[in-house]
Amino acid sequence: MEYGQRLIEIKDRIAAACQRVGRDPDEVTIVAVTKYIGADETAALVEAGQQDLGENRLQVALPKLDALAERAPGVRWHYIGSLQTNKVKEVLQRFHLIHSLDRLSLAKEIDKRARALGITVPCLVQVNVSGEESKGGFAPEEVAEFLGHLAEMPGIEVQGFMTMAPAGVDPEAARPVFRGLREWRDRWLAEGTAPATATRLSMGMSGDFEIAVEEGAAFVRIGSILVKP
Ligand SMILES: *Cc1c(COP(=O)(O)O)cnc(C)c1O
Repeated sequence: MEYGQRLIEIKDRIAAACQRVGRDPDEVTIVAVTKYIGADETAALVEAGQQDLGENRLQVALPKLDALAERAPGVRWHYIGSLQTNKVKEVLQRFHLIHSLDRLSLAKEIDKRARALGITVPCLVQVNVSGEESKGGFAPEEVAEFLGHLAEMPGIEVQGFMTMAPAGVDPEAARPVFRGLREWRDRWLAEGTAPATATRLSMGMSGDFEIAVEEGAAFVRIGSILVKP
């Protein structure tokens, strides 16, 4: 395992990207996507200093959450994949942040269960900036209305927005998507359609995270370059 070394390299690249645009590297959180590895390797990653972990499928995530609950109690789990409404009750109170709030029915279910538990659930609204049909999330033009619904849901705290860039060989191709999300966020905040808490952007993966950092990412979701053998 060379997780420590790989983390150092990724952090160096994030720091360099921050320097290019005058950002503070402390504003960027690496979410290590552990979907490719098992519980023992995930524990080794935590031991190497990585505390924020992401999973995109609940069935794959739960055994790891259970396995790490005692070994690494400080870990923060991020739910980054599409979430079925009937799985919401298993996600609440296990995950630190849901990055993929992508439809009204899901929001209603989270809100209902959160209020029953007396908690508020931090979420990011997923936005399909690129307009690709295969991508989940709201079209940017639909977000203001959705935020209006969320304003009536005390069980949900909107902390920002998430997007997926088209997969491709040229990382620069992702820049307009990342920049687009930042500009939409700025507009929603300025108009007051988004609550003041909705500042954080989750964008960028192994192939394009430096571009995402240059465009304002607060979370980069990094899997393959960190954890793949
Ligand atoms: C798998 C996954 C990632 C990580 O992708 P890599 O290219 O392996 O870094 C990021 N976000 C989501 C939603 C994913 O499913």
